[in-house]
Amino acid sequence: MPGKASFDAIVVGAGLVGLSLTLALLQQGWQVLLVDKRSAPVKPDSKPVSVSGFQLDSGFSARVSALNSRSLTLLNELGIDATWLEQHSALFQGMHVWDGDGTASIEFDASGRIVENHRLEWALLLQISQLGLTPVWQSELSDIECLADEVRIRLSTGEEFLGNCLMGVDGAYSDTRERVGIRVIEWSYDQTSMTTTVQTALPHTGIARQCFTRDGPLALLPLADPQLCSLVWSGRNTFDRMALSDEMLCQEISRESEFVLGQVTAVDSRFEFPLRQAHAVRYAKNNVVLLGDAAHSIHPLAGQGVNLGFADVHSLVSALAVLKLTPTRSMAKIFEKYQRQQRPRNLLMTATMESIKRLFDTDHSFVRWARNTGMDWLDGQDLIKAQLERVASGL
Ligand SMILES: Cc1cc2nc3c(=O)[nH]c(=O)nc-3n(C[C@H](O)[C@H](O)[C@H](O)COP(=O)(O)OP(=O)(O)OC[C@H]3O[C@@H](n4cnc5c(N)ncnc54)[C@H](O)[C@@H]3O)c2cc1C
Repeated sequence: MPGKASFDAIVVGAGLVGLSLTLALLQQGWQVLLVDKRSAPVKPDSKPVSVSGFQLDSGFSARVSALNSRSLTLLNELGIDATWLEQHSALFQGMHVWDGDGTASIEFDASGRIVENHRLEWALLLQISQLGLTPVWQSELSDIECLADEVRIRLSTGEEFLGNCLMGVDGAYSDTRERVGIRVIEWSYDQTSMTTTVQTALPHTGIARQCFTRDGPLALLPLADPQLCSLVWSGRNTFDRMALSDEMLCQEISRESEFVLGQVTAVDSRFEFPLRQAHAVRYAKNNVVLLGDAAHSIHPLAGQGVNLGFADVHSLVSALAVLKLTPTRSMAKIFEKYQRQQRPRNLLMTATMESIKRLFDTDHSFVRWARNTGMDWLDGQDLIKAQLERVASGL
């Protein structure tokens, strides 16, 4: 097609999953076009912690991800090495989960790292630019045409491109998915998440904590500073909490987290995120494939969204590596293999999150009694706890 640049793959979406996918493809020698509708990110800065009354200016972003060891291995293979991670993330070595509506709790070993999303994005972008790719920012799809063995796209800028395939990594509200007509199964949520950074009187000691409050799960994720945690609180009353004064919010978090880290002494700016649990009925159609939240978005209560997306990248890129050995294999066959591998795993995790959410989202006294008894029983079962550790660590 004269006049139109042609690529091995067109990747739509430069979030954490799209960036890691692009980098993995470039490392395999693919020619990639990467498109995202947002503006080009700016280099993250670093500033010292400052506190004024109950107002915290922590220098940490409110959007963080708890990465399991499988994700860390993938990042390592992509060139985000241990030194970078040590400098830019916080290690967690255990989890403490409890029912705010009872007395039961469970503690188990699980290791991983809490990383600020924008810093990791920047590190991935640096690697991508070193391989000669400049993403197309502030641009989105205005048309997709699936031809026999290629895909033609038009961007909002009017430019047209050809690709051997199109990879939709454009998040939970994926336009790529809509345009190629892949349906989703959706669970409607009446919850949103509030995220911020909090300062606590007691040090977090590298433990990720989660309390199931009456209004939903409240997570305190350890940051590099021993007295700072990233807070993710999902529930129906986020709107009201967003409006509280800093002092009132500190009191509410302290009380609802049962003073697990003493008083919350200061709170940073807050952000609210909508929650959507949706799963695509298929991950691939012809030469188009979906990864990350575009294929499956889940409740953040177990911090697994990015981890599942990174597992998608690993699965797809491993399957695509075969193309070099057997170039006669079609892309569609490879996409089917990826779907066969990832969809059941991701569905299982989605179903598990939904069950946990429902279990803790009830006032029914018998269910409350049963979950407290169950949690206490679980805390005494070493074998089952070892399995929980493996799941939380992504092993
Ligand atoms: C409050 C909260 C806390 C969370 N905590 C964790 C955690 O601790 N651990 C974890 O693993 N997961 C966590 N998650 C989930 C995680 O954030 C998501 O699973 C993850 O960000 C998905 O990455 P992605 O790259 O697939 O999609 P996104 O991050 O949504 O990126 C999609 C990209 O596509 C771009 N885009 C969208 N539409 C278009 C379009 N039409 N054209 C071009 N570009 C487009 C967007 O600009 C964006 O850059 C959390 C989620 C929430 C809401």
